[in-house]
Amino acid sequence: MAGLNVKPIFLLSTIIFGLWVLHASAELQRFEHPSKTDGSLSFLVVGDWGRRGAYNQSEVAFQMGKVGEKLDIDFVISTGDNFYDNGLTDQHDTAFEESFTNIYTAKSLQKQWYSILGNHDYRGDALAQLSPVLRQIDNRWLCLRSFIVDSELVEILFVDTSPFVEEYFSDPGEHRYDWRDILPRESYVNKLLKDVELVLKESTAKWKIVVGHHAIRSVGHHGDTLELMKLLLPILQENNVDFYMNGHDHCLEHIRDTQSPIQFLTSGAGSKAWKGDFKMGNKGGLIFFYDGQGFMSVQLTQTDANIEFYDVSGKVLHRLITSKQLHSSM
Ligand SMILES: [Zn+2]
Repeated sequence: MAGLNVKPIFLLSTIIFGLWVLHASAELQRFEHPSKTDGSLSFLVVGDWGRRGAYNQSEVAFQMGKVGEKLDIDFVISTGDNFYDNGLTDQHDTAFEESFTNIYTAKSLQKQWYSILGNHDYRGDALAQLSPVLRQIDNRWLCLRSFIVDSELVEILFVDTSPFVEEYFSDPGEHRYDWRDILPRESYVNKLLKDVELVLKESTAKWKIVVGHHAIRSVGHHGDTLELMKLLLPILQENNVDFYMNGHDHCLEHIRDTQSPIQFLTSGAGSKAWKGDFKMGNKGGLIFFYDGQGFMSVQLTQTDANIEFYDVSGKVLHRLITSKQLHSSM
């Protein structure tokens, strides 16, 4: 009789283990965002913006509205540092409306916004920005630490990069960070890296994009983020990621990875820019750098990516076009 019991117990444990594996692979929330009926997708990318309209935030927003209409955008991506200087004080902080709702007023920008937290956001009440209460105030808003936007054509993986940066923990200076739900840091980062690897390995999308607040490679003020170069970049290189998009440095830039086809794209110029702040000795792979305000647009089809950088007057400063062959045409 004992032998008869072995199989059900084994089966049960298999099922439980199977459920655990399923659960483990589904740790990151996934949002389906369908492509247009012709199979294409377009969106804008802006970062480092929330200053109640100051430092040309309103002018950048105005041009985003015009380009958004022209491209019939499907959504907007914010690369973080959403509210200066210190994030939101709580869910009822009026900075949310003053820096977001009342600024991005164009009809074409009344779409879903997918946002992540920057280091400045972690200096306030980080949980406030993640709260569904903000969606009741402005239903465009969706901000999470790490998550996936899936349109079949493209899988966009948003990664919470602030916890990677050692200095914020070891030498925060006068800044205070809201690390609730992050500590212990090492296990948070390790688990996130495992999730990122799993999502990218399982992805069957034509295009793979990873979005973080901090640059992996940058020639701007902050420069390269060494922790991301060491821990995150090898995973992106191994899993055929097309683009890594970020903010943090208040500039627009395009750098080609020297080891893989990855293109690094910085869009962190949503308001205050840092003119003349350029690391001369760090130019490997550099294709384009602009130290003024602006934003980026992305248009994707099954075969082509068309990415453009705009300045505060809406002028196209730089264009990146990448093509992929369809298997049927080979
Ligand atoms: Zn930042």
